[in-house]
Amino acid sequence: MAPVKVTKICCIGAGYVGGPTCAVIALKCPHIQVTIVDLNQARVDAWNSPDFQLPIYEPGLEDVVRGCRGRNLFFSTDVDKGIREADLIFVSVNTPTKKSGVGAGFAADLNYVESATRRIAAVATSSKIVVEKSTVPCRTAESMRTILEANSKAGCRFDILSNPEFLAEGTAISDLFAPDRVLIGSLQTQEGKDACASLAEVYANWVPRERILTVGLWSSELSKLAANAMLAQRISSVNALSAICEATGANIEEVANAVGYDSRIGPKFLRASVGFGGSCFQKDILNLVYLSESLHLPQVAAYWRQVVEMNEYQKARFSKTVVDTLFNTITGKHLAVLGFAFKADTGDTRESAAITLVRDFLLERAYVTIYDPKVEEAQIWQDLQEALPTTPLETIKKHVTISHSALDACKQKEAIVIATEWKEFKEIDWQTVYDQMSKPAFVFDGRMILDVEKLKTIGFTVKVIGRGDRL
Ligand code: NAD
Repeated sequence: MAPVKVTKICCIGAGYVGGPTCAVIALKCPHIQVTIVDLNQARVDAWNSPDFQLPIYEPGLEDVVRGCRGRNLFFSTDVDKGIREADLIFVSVNTPTKKSGVGAGFAADLNYVESATRRIAAVATSSKIVVEKSTVPCRTAESMRTILEANSKAGCRFDILSNPEFLAEGTAISDLFAPDRVLIGSLQTQEGKDACASLAEVYANWVPRERILTVGLWSSELSKLAANAMLAQRISSVNALSAICEATGANIEEVANAVGYDSRIGPKFLRASVGFGGSCFQKDILNLVYLSESLHLPQVAAYWRQVVEMNEYQKARFSKTVVDTLFNTITGKHLAVLGFAFKADTGDTRESAAITLVRDFLLERAYVTIYDPKVEEAQIWQDLQEALPTTPLETIKKHVTISHSALDACKQKEAIVIATEWKEFKEIDWQTVYDQMSKPAFVFDGRMILDVEKLKTIGFTVKVIGRGDRL
C-alpha cells in the first residue's frame, strides 16, 4: 500500500491540544476537511459560538479559528460521523493521572484513550490511520492496535502512529506555526512507513521537512514523556538552587544567567519560581515513575519522583516564607493573591501553584482575595473545593473574595503574593497599591517579575524566590 493522500481528518477531543492543533492544520491545509469532535456539548458549542467565545484562551487562537471555521474546520458532537468520514483520526483525549485503583496517583488513566479507540473500531467502515496525539505511556499504541484489529470489519485496516504534541499553553499557536520539531512514530513495516509518510505530507504544508522527525513507535511515545520530564527537571534543579540562594544571599537570577551561558546548558527554562504547574509536567513524570516501577527499575523511578517532590517542597517553602515573614501567623490577616492560572497567557489552572498557596493560606485561617485576568470565577471555586474537599464551599467563600482588578484586590491588604507572571502585574501603580495597604506592607514575588529596588524604595518589604536578605 502506498501512502494515502489525506483529505479528511477527524480529531477526537476538542481540548487544549486537539482544538488548537487541528485548527492550525485546517488553516494551513485548506484542501483538507478537519472535523474536531467531542462528547462535551458545552465545549463544542463554545468552539462554534457566533461571537468566538472559544472554550480556551490562547493568544492568536481566535484568528486561526476565524480563518477557517465553516470553510474546512468544523466542530461537532457527532463523534461517529467524524470517525466514519475521516481517513486520518487523531486521538487527542485527556490522559489524567489515575485517582484510584491500581497505580493510583501515578499511572495514566487510559480509559478515555481506550473508549475512543473502541469507538473507532465500532464505527469505521473503511481503513484509517489512527494517530495517538494524547500523551501516553510507552507501548500504548500496541494496546490500541490490538483493540482495533480484534474489532475491525472486513476490508478495514488500521495503521497506528504516534504523533505527540509539544506545544506549550500560552504559546500554542506560535509553537504550532513554527514547531521545533514534529515527531511521528510508526511501526517499521512498509505499512507503518507509508502511514507515517501520509501524516508527514500533512505537516509538510508548513513545517520544513528537516523538522519532521520519523522514528519508531515506542521511541516516539517515550520521547514525549522524556521531554516533559527533562523540562520539569530543569525547573526543579533551578528551584533547588533558589533555596540555597535564599539561605546564602546569592541571587538565583545571577546564578541561572551564569550557568545558562554555558552552551552545553543554554539559557532557556532556567527561571526559578514558586513551582511548575499545568496539566502535563507532574502527570507525565508520575507516568514515567510508574512505567519505571512496572519495568522493575526502582532507582530510575526514585530519580524522576524527586523532580515532583522538589516541586511540592518549593510550593510549601514559599507558603512558609509568607507565614514566617508575617510574624509567624496569618490567621485573620488579609492577603491578595495575584494570578491563579498555572502560568501567564492561559486561563488554565490545572495543577496551578496558586491553588496550593491559597489552600495553605486558608488552612492558616487567612482571608484571601484572588485576581486573575483570564481565569473564570467558577473555575476558582471548583479548584478550591477540590483542594479542600472536607470544607463546605460556603465556608471557603467566607474567607475568599474574587476581585476584578489587581488594584482592587490589593486594597487594605497586609500582603500581596504574586502567583502567576502576568505582564500586567509589573505595570501596576505600586505607589497607589502601597498607599492603600495596611502597614507594614509586604510583597511576595513567586515569579521574579517585580522591580524589587523600586518596591523597597516605595516602602514595601519584599521577598522574592531565590533572593536572600544577607548582603
Ligand atoms: P482536555 O481535557 O483539554 O481535552 C480532552 C477532550 O477530550 C475533552 O474535551 C473531553 O471531553 C474529550 N474526550 C474524552 N474522551 C472522549 C471520547 N471518547 N470521545 C470524544 N471526546 C472525548 O485535554 P488536553 O489538555 O487537550 O490534553 C489532551 C492530551 O494531550 C493529553 O494526553 C495531554 O497529556 C496531552 N498534551 C497536553 C498538552 C497541554 O498543554 N494541555 C500539551 C501536550 C500534550
